[in-house]
Amino acid sequence: MVIIMLGAPGAGKGTQAERICAGYSLPHISTGDIFRANIKGGTELGKEAKSYMDRGELVPDELTVRILKDRVSQDDCASGYVLDGFPRTIPQAEALEAMLKEQGVSADHAIDVEVPDENIVRRMGGRRSCQNCGAIYHVEYAKPAKEGICDKCGGTLVIRDDDKDETVRNRLKVYHEQTQPLIDFYKGRGILKEVDGTQDPDKVFEDIRAILG
Ligand code: ADP
Ligand code: AMP
Repeated sequence: MVIIMLGAPGAGKGTQAERICAGYSLPHISTGDIFRANIKGGTELGKEAKSYMDRGELVPDELTVRILKDRVSQDDCASGYVLDGFPRTIPQAEALEAMLKEQGVSADHAIDVEVPDENIVRRMGGRRSCQNCGAIYHVEYAKPAKEGICDKCGGTLVIRDDDKDETVRNRLKVYHEQTQPLIDFYKGRGILKEVDGTQDPDKVFEDIRAILG
């Protein structure tokens, strides 16, 4: 099963992708996490990606598609995966579709987690991520048991570099211009499913479970 998570930055794609992956035994493929791992590792890819990420812009399609294809060609993706943060442009969606077609399959669900812009800025201001495993928390809405420490692995929780107010506003602008058109793209493919992302994370997941069956 191939599941695509759609939604604005901060809508809760990663939070829900973690739950889907745990519940349905699928790998969680986040292009943002791959870029951040490369930045941490000091690779050339990381250096290039960071220059775009720090400005709240998208990493160029060619580079992003290449790392995505490389990741999903690994063995753990053989029976499906959850895409979180990819595709983010129409050319990326077309590249994914062509790749899946070559394999004789197609994406099963594109789940749009809907949250209005006014909620997004507050969410991203309070987001904390584990430096070690990438698990997602919020200072108000999803607190860890011990402040600043990851419940899952004991790693340190940090504020992402691109979660600064000004960068968040640019990311939202970029989302509306380049990523939102994907909603119509997947509606046209007949696989778009919409969930109300302003609800409690447990309720959002319940709605997603009802979609996935
Ligand atoms: P995305 O992957 O779409 O950028 P995240 O899953 O990282 O979004 O969520 C952004 C922030 O909002 C995180 O701090 C997360 O804990 C919090 N969050 C996620 N879902 C909800 C929700 N349903 N209600 C309140 N806060 C949420
Ligand atoms: P995310 O972790 O999904 O919020 O992504 C963080 C940042 O990584 C984005 O703001 C982009 O700069 C970059 N990024 C992640 N995924 C993509 C993608 N599919 N296309 C282009 N840039 C991406």
